[in-house]
Amino acid sequence: MIEMECTCAQKHHSIPTEVIEVSDHAIEKVTDILADYHRIFMVADENTYEVAGKRVEELLRQAGSLSHTLVLPPSALPSAENVGRVLMEAGRDREIYDINAWSRNPDYILAVGSGSINDTCRMVSYRMGIPYGVAGTAPSMDGYASVVAPLLNHGKKIVYTCSIARHIIIDLSINARAPYALLLAGVGDMIGKYVAILDWEISRELTGEYYCKQIAEMVLKATGQCVEVSKDLKNRDLSVIRATSEGLILSGKCIAFCGSSRPASGTEHMIGQTWEVMDVEEGKVPNLHGIEVGEATFAAIEMFRLLFRETDDRLMKDLIGKYLPAFDRIETLQQTLRLPFTVMDRNRFVEGILRGRTFRARYTLLQYLYDRGMLEDYAGRVYDTVMKKYFFTAFKEQFPDWEA
Ligand SMILES: [Zn+2]
Ligand SMILES: [Zn+2]
Repeated sequence: MIEMECTCAQKHHSIPTEVIEVSDHAIEKVTDILADYHRIFMVADENTYEVAGKRVEELLRQAGSLSHTLVLPPSALPSAENVGRVLMEAGRDREIYDINAWSRNPDYILAVGSGSINDTCRMVSYRMGIPYGVAGTAPSMDGYASVVAPLLNHGKKIVYTCSIARHIIIDLSINARAPYALLLAGVGDMIGKYVAILDWEISRELTGEYYCKQIAEMVLKATGQCVEVSKDLKNRDLSVIRATSEGLILSGKCIAFCGSSRPASGTEHMIGQTWEVMDVEEGKVPNLHGIEVGEATFAAIEMFRLLFRETDDRLMKDLIGKYLPAFDRIETLQQTLRLPFTVMDRNRFVEGILRGRTFRARYTLLQYLYDRGMLEDYAGRVYDTVMKKYFFTAFKEQFPDWEA
């Protein structure tokens, strides 16, 4: 358990995570880290099995603690279907000949993968009441330590409460070899945190929402470190991979500390996730979460800048003013990093902003603008700025072979 005393209304934050191991060759320590478990059910997909699962399986088998393994098809999505598959394969019924006996459950679920595998296993762990952990293969999102998972269910993307990982094992040399699109997605998910914390501050002032200064400061610090090193992402330096991984884990940890995704998800996530949902509604496979969130972050930044210039609301001016230097740093980062975009169509871009406001019950800049009759105007105006300033390549052009 990780605990933190605090001066906020919660006074005390804790999560059930026991070990966070971020190091070179971290997976070699898997049997030591999971020494208390003896019937481990390992879940991977074909890609993650190749890069890490095979080795983890071998180590667990040697230690006598592997129950069995399930390998899903490559790039398996966090869908109700895959949650169902993992659930159905969790037991080893074929070994039980007593038809009156209950199915023997594993005592631990180990997810080997990143966003999708992790979210799928978290859900199964929560429903079965079995602890789970993750051997992460790509620093592509902040869900490793999170308490919620967005899952695809019957044509909808729904955020469910799920288990928090007991163990997070990040092998830096494996993560450094992750597909470049996933590395970019990790940075995209991370740069939005400035917007998320600013939204949280605005809500604290305008709606009296609970706010934890310590958590907010931790997230801002991790974001700063990540923005600082990400310009060198292409080199896949272990120090860059470490900073991104640690930033994402810390952001997830803060979500769990807080009990909601408030410290890590504001305007940018509501817009980005709406674009994802629009894909799902049209029967398409949604784009990478972090890529959508990255693009939406630029929309959010430009709306904040516009409001800062035009408003005479003193409070808003002061709050936004504190974050302007951080927004400048993100803008500079984009000049070097060139995060690819997926939404270039004006109507789609604007619809994401308008519908994003009600993506979840959360007070953000979107609600502030809507209440003052300004949202539609701002959405249209920032589209031009965002495309002119931040767009370099379309995701599909940069990664033509990317599936899912
Ligand atoms: Zn606190
Ligand atoms: Zn995210």
